[in-house]
Amino acid sequence: MATLSPEQVKATGQLVLNSLVAQCLGLLGDRWTLLVIRDLFLRRHRFEALLQHTGAVRSTLANRLKVLVQQGIVYRNPYQMSPARYEYRLTPKGLGLYDFALAIWSWEQKWLGDEVVDLPPVLVHRSCKKPFSPICKCLSCDEAITSNSVTNRPNSAYLATTRATNFSKRRSKISAGSHTARDGSLFHATDILGDRWNNLILGGALYGLRRYDDFQRGLGISTNILADRLKLLVEAGLFNRVAYQSGPKRYQYNLTAKGQDYLPVAMALHKWSERWLTQGERGNVILSHHCEDAPVQFVFCCSACEGVLHPHDVTTAPPC
Ligand SMILES: [Zn+2]
Ligand SMILES: [Zn+2]
Repeated sequence: MATLSPEQVKATGQLVLNSLVAQCLGLLGDRWTLLVIRDLFLRRHRFEALLQHTGAVRSTLANRLKVLVQQGIVYRNPYQMSPARYEYRLTPKGLGLYDFALAIWSWEQKWLGDEVVDLPPVLVHRSCKKPFSPICKCLSCDEAITSNSVTNRPNSAYLATTRATNFSKRRSKISAGSHTARDGSLFHATDILGDRWNNLILGGALYGLRRYDDFQRGLGISTNILADRLKLLVEAGLFNRVAYQSGPKRYQYNLTAKGQDYLPVAMALHKWSERWLTQGERGNVILSHHCEDAPVQFVFCCSACEGVLHPHDVTTAPPC
């Protein structure tokens, strides 16, 4: 890979910092929030069931549900009148996170195998009655989207500063309590998504940053935090660390296949944010597939029948 100029490093860092995905994770990027969304898709609707499966304490769960209701992602549905009892359901905006949930499931199944806890081992597509993996597919050329086949460019029409201000006001108070697993070998998708720095570093890598100094300058991360997160991400197998200079020794961080496979998770968040955070307007980055210059349009499809996947059309029951 060619060396990036200081201007390119700065521009790439700004793209990542002001991206819709970064803004979206300001709202959702908290471990407990992510676990609540996961469980709602697994049809765990009642407070006690959510308490049991997320492992959150009562006050934390109540707080996260309240914020999700305020954000219009979840609504309270009465299931009993006296005394009044409510269950929690996803609104259309919440159901729009289904591709994101599928992408996480797929990444965890592929890369964590036996270490996956509390996720169904098999998903079955009701339409074709077959077990499947979700495929993130380009609508123009019908090919699966991979990190090597996607390019990004700044969207000149986007007023990054205005929007970033709007979104930062809406940042929920809960992001301060971010959680990072301290053991890279047990690193789950929620550990990446629930930590702002992990997200920015991975985003930077997907946009072309490689060198330690470039991550530091482009993203403005302090050296101790950067060193800590890169070490974890290497231990978790998302990056390879390679020396590119000796005396003084300098390292670059290349995404492994596991790191590159994180792309559909980011793509799903990008698409959701364009639909629900900016009401259809594009963010600061235009993503294109290698088949054409126009912004990429994609769906998550069943690997068995190629049909588009919808939440009501997928079951966790094993095939008969
Ligand atoms: Zn394409
Ligand atoms: Zn199918």
